[in-house]
Amino acid sequence: MTAAEDRLGPTIFERSRPGRGGGKVPHPPADALARIPAGHLRAAGPRLPEVSEPELARHYTKLSQLNYAVDTGFYPLGSCTMKYNPKIDEWAARLPGFTALHPLVPDELSQGTLQLLWELEGALAEIGGMKAVTLQPAAGAQGELTGILMVRAYHHSRGDLERCEVLVPDSAHGTNPATASMAGFTTVSIPSAPDGGVDVEAFRAALGPRTAAVMITNPSTLGLFESRLCELLDAVHEAGALAYMDGANLNAIMGRFKPGEAGFDVMHINVHKTFSTPHGGGGPGAGPVGVGEKLLPFLPSPRVLRGADGRFRLEAPGERPTSIGRMRAFAGNTGVLVRAYAYIRANGGSGLREVSEDAVLAANYLKARVADLLDVPYSRPCMHEFVASSATLKTQTGIRTLDVAKRLIDYGFHPPTVYFPLTVEEALLIEPTETESIETLDLFVDALRSIVAEAHANPDLLHSAPHGSPVRRLDETAAARQPNLRWRAMTGSQTPCPD
Ligand SMILES: *Cc1c(COP(=O)(O)O)cnc(C)c1O
Repeated sequence: MTAAEDRLGPTIFERSRPGRGGGKVPHPPADALARIPAGHLRAAGPRLPEVSEPELARHYTKLSQLNYAVDTGFYPLGSCTMKYNPKIDEWAARLPGFTALHPLVPDELSQGTLQLLWELEGALAEIGGMKAVTLQPAAGAQGELTGILMVRAYHHSRGDLERCEVLVPDSAHGTNPATASMAGFTTVSIPSAPDGGVDVEAFRAALGPRTAAVMITNPSTLGLFESRLCELLDAVHEAGALAYMDGANLNAIMGRFKPGEAGFDVMHINVHKTFSTPHGGGGPGAGPVGVGEKLLPFLPSPRVLRGADGRFRLEAPGERPTSIGRMRAFAGNTGVLVRAYAYIRANGGSGLREVSEDAVLAANYLKARVADLLDVPYSRPCMHEFVASSATLKTQTGIRTLDVAKRLIDYGFHPPTVYFPLTVEEALLIEPTETESIETLDLFVDALRSIVAEAHANPDLLHSAPHGSPVRRLDETAAARQPNLRWRAMTGSQTPCPD
């Protein structure tokens, strides 16, 4: 058994021995079974693993140690803002007053939660320069859908039924074109300008009476602030279209740039990125959407309202007929929203501005140091993340971005985002975030420097990396297409087969 296999260990089922158990449970009364209606009785006992309590504790503790987490190390995954999430926000989200609240209790009994949601909407509206915010969407992608459905409702309300296109730059996150088509629009992809920014002339040429909206990510997924934004937004509005901002990268601009004031009509915010919710495991998240004056009537219902007496209530069904309706059950992912509220209150306005400034500073520091080792295609200052490329390294040594990323695992780092944005060859999208110390950033650079030296001296070492992780290179396509998610006992000649 290799060290790595030992770390993975046998499954809990393989550890099972008949009759073994943990804890001492008092014997049930003699007639316990007779008291359960026959229809609810199992025909056979459940096939549960039989292990002692320490075996159980060790099994799950070891499993948890296989995870790489921002609580254990540097996690520079670009576009995802994997920043450290203060534990006080976890404490707030676990307060029984929030966790034990039944979603169907009447408004009089949920005043505290309603007030929190109402205040959070106000804070996010202020941060984004928007008129109002809905907290319903469950993630950024659903926020996009909510925003674009409101855009559709706006055009239809004006009798403008010809607008069937959404313009999206080619550097956008894949959720942008997916959103446009889910909402029934055709996506028109617009190439980026050579400096990585949006190509305003190409946008102008594509804009017209068929354009419903443009979706702009700012700062872009290349980590760049759009330098010709005002020109672009003027052109969009002259064409009668609306401007959607993908606000996933808000961590770079808080307190410095308000998208609503700049002319964006609608924007989603990934609170699990900017406002402190752990999201490496795939959720849950939340994707609040802010709107300007034009889209106000179309916000999802029910909204949280505050009466003249200071009491809070949810809108009644049908109270606002222009609404696009409900996007998510109840008030959205409230636990995530409590974390966001706690984070915003703990930082305050000046603290949030400092967060963004530090995120930008850390990214520019790292970019300057990485430029000695890898290609850095865009020379102008970056925002909270930057794109590097190992294209030159590939030409010199045959080493690809994937090899560099896998080798970083051996050095104890989570790899950055790779092969995204699609517009940059052999891309690595690196986002250090504001929460990392300069010492950590320097250690990351040291690791990259060693890896580049290894690429020249011993490329095979990189092609076969990682060497110290519990599993090596996975077949990611098979893992996605034929997920094997359940353990099954195997006998004799059986081979593992996917469920
Ligand atoms: C993360 C991200 C999204 C999607 O957000 P989810 O919350 O993952 O659904 C959209 N656009 C950009 C630029 C992103 O980084």
